[in-house]
Formats: sequence, structure tokens, C-alpha cells
Amino acid sequence: MTLFQKIIDREIPAKIVYEDDDVLAFLDISQQTPGHTLVIPKKATASVLTAPEETIAVVNIQAAKIAKSLIDALGASGANLLSNAGEVAGQTVFHYHVHIIPRYEEDELKLDIKEHSSTIDEVYETIKEVF
Ligand code: 5GP
Repeated sequence: MTLFQKIIDREIPAKIVYEDDDVLAFLDISQQTPGHTLVIPKKATASVLTAPEETIAVVNIQAAKIAKSLIDALGASGANLLSNAGEVAGQTVFHYHVHIIPRYEEDELKLDIKEHSSTIDEVYETIKEVF
């Protein structure tokens, strides 16, 4: 059982900001910016890569609504909505979740990803028939 299942089951406390039959949203303990919130489905699945389409839909619909309310309530100017899928992507809790990270004018935007050597043409050749 993951930590987030324990939050759903009220076995460990969390600052819950929204709940309905399908999703739960609560403040991330790390607060990367003020209002950093996690939106999770009540039906557990490891990540966005394993989640059924209807779960992805409901989580993202609610995440967008919650993001707008957080931005208004906290005086933010925008937000990053993102989902880490897999350990290499920084996922540490294997219960699908969307991070809402409100962004403020004074923030610096940092995306710390090591550069790869492949060109855009090479990548396109590899994936163009995949979809
Ligand atoms: P991930 O790294 O898997 O994308 O995100 C997991 C998030 O869960 C992290 O941002 C981390 O701060 C948050 N987190 C870990 N433990 C707890 C906890 O006990 N309570 C809350 N509210 N958030 C947690």
C-alpha cells in the first residue's frame, strides 16, 4: 500500500483541499512553491502510464479546476501541472498523481535535464511511425 492510499484512508493526516468520489487533492508536504498540491485518483494505479483513460481524464479535469482556484486564492500568475512517471522521471510515490505548482512572478523557471546527443531529425525518424 502506498503512502497516498493511507492519506485516502485517513490513516495519515494531510491538508486536504478538495475531495469527491473519484479524486483527492491535498497540499504537497514539500511546498515547492506556496500552494503546491497533489491531485490523485481514489482508485490506485501506479502512474499516468498505467492509468485507465477515464482516470486520467477525471484527475486532469479536477487538477485544472483546482489550479485556477489556487492561482486566484494565492495571487499566483500561473502554474506547472505535471506528472512524474517512473523513477528516472523523479517519481517517488507509485500512486498516479498530478502536481500543481503555482508560479509567482519572482520564481526562476529551472528545468534541470542533462542534454542528450540525438538530433531532432534522429528522434523524428524513430518515432514518426509509432502513433
Ligand atoms: P513524485 O516525486 O512521486 O512525483 O511526488 C511525490 C510527492 O509526494 C513529493 O512531492 C513529496 O513531497 C510528496 N510527499 C511525500 N510524502 C508525503 C506526505 O506524507 N504527505 C504529503 N502531503 N506529501 C508527501
